[in-house]
Amino acid sequence: MVDPNATIDWSYSNAQLYASCPRSLFFHFWQRTGTEIAESTDDNILHGISQSAGSIIGSAIHHALADHIQRWVQNERTGLRQTQSTAESYIGKAVSQSSESESLDLDSLSNTTDTHIETFFKTVWPSLHSQRYILHEETHSFDVSGNTVWVRPDLCVRESSPEEQAADTFVIYDWKSRQPSTFEDQSLQLCVYALWANKTFEPDVERISPRIVFTQNGRIERQDVSVEGLAQLETRIITQSTEWNPPDQRSRFPTEAAHEKCSTCAYLSSCGDGQKQMSPE
Ligand code: SF4
Repeated sequence: MVDPNATIDWSYSNAQLYASCPRSLFFHFWQRTGTEIAESTDDNILHGISQSAGSIIGSAIHHALADHIQRWVQNERTGLRQTQSTAESYIGKAVSQSSESESLDLDSLSNTTDTHIETFFKTVWPSLHSQRYILHEETHSFDVSGNTVWVRPDLCVRESSPEEQAADTFVIYDWKSRQPSTFEDQSLQLCVYALWANKTFEPDVERISPRIVFTQNGRIERQDVSVEGLAQLETRIITQSTEWNPPDQRSRFPTEAAHEKCSTCAYLSSCGDGQKQMSPE
């Protein structure tokens, strides 16, 4: 039964799904609410999407770094070995619970994750741990003209300026364990973090610095923030929230079937156009 009052909130991940294929956001939203709207039924897709090796590695790194930062904040014992061990426990559990556990190589997953965490400790952590902690791995929402927007930054700190009299910068970090796919717009993600920070913590946009950390090689990518850029994002959020809601009309979410997208789409089993796209002539 479709809830007539249901609303799709705006988030970077929802915007990415919509940009990739509008219908995938429709399936994603309704299947998360437990509403049966599939064109064909596949319980594995509707009620439990299997985890790929890449997503297990990414989740393990996020989980282990969050645990490390929590220990650091609480002055508890932590470090490289402790963090790698946390990641290994996470991987063991994720593999044992995966529907594809037989095809997942536990040693390979652990070795890759260990290398990412070691790189993080060598290249990123030395400059991070002297900054002033604000929060990490918390889900927050904020309002844009009556529309709810969600963010979940990996770590926020205040970074001291080298000039004594200058104010600290509000820095938002996002860990990435892999390079972005064609459909990901990282500058949009960082801009959403900056808008949240501007509305919640720091009114001066020049003192906001969103950054992506690539755990594979320790590279840090910074994004410039401008008043105009944040205003454009607010307009986009308002426009898209209007396009998406109310979300009970499938026609608001047309399919954009393409082999590259449909072959990796979590909603293929629920999507007639996607199945047509993938079936041989
Ligand atoms: S299977 Fe293809 S057309 Fe269907 S929702 Fe996914 S990406 Fe879109």
